[in-house]
Amino acid sequence: MVIVLRDNLSNEQYHELIHFLTSKGVDFQEIEAGRVINFPVTREEEDFLSALKAFPQVVDVLRTTKDYRLVKEVKIPFEAAGISWGGKLVPIIAGPCAVEDEDKYLQLAKELKEMGIQAIRGAIFKPRTSPYSFQGLGRKGIHILGRVRKELGLPVVTEILEPRQLDILYPVVDIFQIGSRNMQNYSLLKEMGRQDKPILLKRGMSATYREFLLAAEYLLYEGNNRVILCERGIRSFEDYTRNTLDLTAVPALKDLANLPVIVDPSHGTGSWSLVSPMSLAAVAAGADGLMLEVHPEPAEAFSDGCQSITPGRLKDLLVSLQKVAGAVGREMIFESEEGHHAGS
Ligand code: PEP
Ligand code: MN
Repeated sequence: MVIVLRDNLSNEQYHELIHFLTSKGVDFQEIEAGRVINFPVTREEEDFLSALKAFPQVVDVLRTTKDYRLVKEVKIPFEAAGISWGGKLVPIIAGPCAVEDEDKYLQLAKELKEMGIQAIRGAIFKPRTSPYSFQGLGRKGIHILGRVRKELGLPVVTEILEPRQLDILYPVVDIFQIGSRNMQNYSLLKEMGRQDKPILLKRGMSATYREFLLAAEYLLYEGNNRVILCERGIRSFEDYTRNTLDLTAVPALKDLANLPVIVDPSHGTGSWSLVSPMSLAAVAAGADGLMLEVHPEPAEAFSDGCQSITPGRLKDLLVSLQKVAGAVGREMIFESEEGHHAGS
């Protein structure tokens, strides 16, 4: 870490700072007399940096290391829900925004499984902007997720909103989703870090890469090593789309950390017609998976119908995705009318 000092410091001001460093037991070194002080990276704690910046003598305090560590040490690929994440395979999680009806959800699950989709999504606890909007089936949806998992053997990805839901969700979930709105809910992150099922962590809608990775760091710090990051769009000045899908996040996060990075173009764009092109772009950019909202009758969906594609469209998309995946050395496994495809 480097402390940059103000020009024309008085001797007294300079010694006040030196005294502070000495009193904190910091082993420092002056690089340019009275201008720059260097000290060990082991003291690069956020709060210490902040304390140093409180001195009027200090112009800036510069980090020389990143403050997340564990996200760089994860071994990938890893297995979650019987699927390999962060390797050659590009898995797809598809399904409606919310679980709405038992028969329809099971029917869709059957279709997705037949297509070779790796996991189904669907929330029973929905974090909605308005309290008047559909909040999800709640506890009534538990046995629906349980049936899909048991009867079809299709892995389930569903959102957990608060630690109190862990006990009832745990038996019916393969991968827990922590949504954008909860990316910085540190008590939820701590709780979910202490349980053993994998986590799909969605980027907060105004979170920087650092904040996103530090949220993942919470999960890892508590002992959960199976964390999948999901780029789902950020808030920007553009209001044509629901969010601005930040595809730079894919290669950037993969540079900064060693975690699988998947993309959700449904929330990322808010518009079904933009989902297919952005899915292709995501895979081209190196995404380690996709999360897609799929609904048999988008116009009848209780939530996010406008950004949901139909199973038919998904089928078409899979054909193009396979070509893009092959072009960038990745693999997508799905079933088509002509039979099994394991394209790479
Ligand atoms: C969702 O996946 O349905 C969802 C609410 O996503 P996000 O947390 O990204 O808004
Ligand atoms: Mn949704």
